[in-house]
Order: sequence, then C-alpha cells, then structure tokens
Amino acid sequence: MPVQCSSCSNNRAVLRRPKTGHSLCKECFFVAFEEEVHRTIVAAELFKPGERVGIAASGGKDSTVLAHVMKVLNERYSYGLELMLLSVDEGITGYRDDSLETVKRNQEQYELPLKIVSYEELYGWTMDAIVKQVGLKNNCTFCGVFRRQALDRGAIMLKVDKICTGHNADDIAETVLMNILRGDIARLRRCTAISTSSEGDGVVPRCKPLKYAYEKEIVLYAYFKKLDYFSTECIYSPNAYRGYARTFLKDLESIRPSSIMDVIHSGENLSVRDGVKMPVQGTCSRCGYISSQTLCKACVLLEGLNRGLPKLGIGKHHRLHGKLLSQEPLTEKEERKLKAVEF
Ligand code: SF4
Ligand code: ZN
Repeated sequence: MPVQCSSCSNNRAVLRRPKTGHSLCKECFFVAFEEEVHRTIVAAELFKPGERVGIAASGGKDSTVLAHVMKVLNERYSYGLELMLLSVDEGITGYRDDSLETVKRNQEQYELPLKIVSYEELYGWTMDAIVKQVGLKNNCTFCGVFRRQALDRGAIMLKVDKICTGHNADDIAETVLMNILRGDIARLRRCTAISTSSEGDGVVPRCKPLKYAYEKEIVLYAYFKKLDYFSTECIYSPNAYRGYARTFLKDLESIRPSSIMDVIHSGENLSVRDGVKMPVQGTCSRCGYISSQTLCKACVLLEGLNRGLPKLGIGKHHRLHGKLLSQEPLTEKEERKLKAVEF
C-alpha cells in the first residue's frame, strides 16, 4: 500500500529519511534537509552579512549539494553573502580533470565565480608526478597536506572571509573514530568543531554547514534534485585506514542510524585533562604558513620530493628540520633511509 508523506499528508512518500525514519514526499524532504542546514548555520553563527564566502568545490556530491543549498538559503533568508566556488586541481589525470569539468558546469548553473588553484602552479608537482615518485602508499598524505594549504592560498587570492567545505556527518564521525584509534587528541579536539577561527597569518577560517547532514541524505537530495555531480573515486585512493573506519561506521549505522550522531557527540564531549601537552601553533620559518614545527608539513614534503627523498615528510623526522633549513647535507645513512619507498 502506498505510504503518504508524514509531513504534508497530501502526497505519496517517495523515501524514508535515513536520519529520522520519517516517510516523506520529495518536496517535504527538500524542505526538511534545507531547513536543517539553515538551522545549523544560524545556531553556530557561521556567517555575517556582507561576507565573501568561498565554497570548496570538487564536483563531488557533497560540495555540489553544499553549493546548491548555500545558494538557495542565501537567497531565501537574505544572508547577504557573496558566494564563489574555489577548486583545487591536484593534477590527477582521469579523475580531477573530469570532476573539474563538473565544477565548471556548476559554475554556470549556479552563476557563481570560480577560481581553480593547481598543485602544479603552487608546488611545481602534480599528484601524477608525486605518485610516480612515492608510490601508492603515502600519496594521500602529500595530497591532504597540499590541499589544505592550496585552499588557503586560493582563498587569499579570492580575498574571501571564509571557506566552507562539504564535510558531512559521516566524514566527521569517521574522523573522530580515526583520531581515537590513533590516539591523536589534538586532532580529536579540532575535528568536531563546526568552524575554525583564523589560527594565524595565511589561514582563512573554515566552516562545515553540512556537519549534521547524513551522507545518505546528501545522496538522496542530489538525486531527487537532479544535481550535476561527479561520482567516480580517485584513482589513487587506497587510503585504507579511513576505509576501515567508514565500513565500521556503516555497519553501526545499519544497526542503529543514530550511531553517526552518537559518535560525533562523543567526539564533542571528550575533553582533554589539564596538563596534557598539546602542540603549540607557530609559523613555518620557510613559507610562513601555520606549523607546530620549525618547518610546516608541506615544506618538508616538498623538500623531500625535490631532493628525491620522498620519506622525509612521512613519519617523524623533526630533528632533521634544522639541517634542512641551514642546507646542511644529510649523512649517507639518513639519505638511504629516506629514499626507500615501498610500492
Ligand atoms: Fe588525493 Fe588521496 Fe584523495 Fe586521491 S584519494 S584526491 S590522492 S587525498
Ligand atoms: Zn612551510
């Protein structure tokens, strides 16, 4: 028997909301989803009227839904924001080149300005070239560190006040689990925050308007709205650790849908005992970007690539930073260790 929409009772329900279990028609689902994002934005005071906001856009479902919903809400509730799209081109043939075509179409569909910054122009290396040198084991470390900085640099070029990213509830719950499993309390504290304030020069505040949106609902929203997005996975995505955390979380979700929110709440409520040593944020003495070490991670990874020592930025080699800065040569033994990569 057809089920009626539990919200309007006029239309036939076309879906059961993964987050609440309610049976809804398409229109009522759109309203429920958009209103939740609106409430998140208002409750956390994510934006101020007149701000320039860069939407980190990859062409994937999350950032496409984010761009769409931000545009809808900005108009519906007169946020007074100047929205623009900001994309990073990692230089991955057969993946990012195609997804950037999607972003370019989104730019026209949503009539928003678009800026693309590339690893090649910023660092002189594409991910294709990096994978050739480092293999498929640590490639995502390079990519993640470079992306974080590339977004900041793009945001500065665009002169935006804030960047918003498409991180959803599932992403955040996964990150909470990973940080617990790794014992990374500094990151655990930061990863549930809905917004980061400026942490120093060269860092643009970031926020996550989809923090409480379930991935399954984002997919449904994109599907029913017929949004134009790119759904292929990165060709270099072995990132096994996150994959296990994701599978574990999906298993939990299938037994109890609230698991995703429960894990996020756990992350939010865990506090750090007084006296626990936390890293102190300073700035990189080479590029000026935020760093808790003398050299930031991006500069160390780049130095490793340029010297043909790809392992330099992987693992802990902080004691070598002084040598790198003063251009002192490394010993043969040090070089040998840093050259070896397991493919
Ligand atoms: Fe970069 Fe890894 Fe993501 Fe591919 S999967 S885009 S290499 S971080
Ligand atoms: Zn640096």
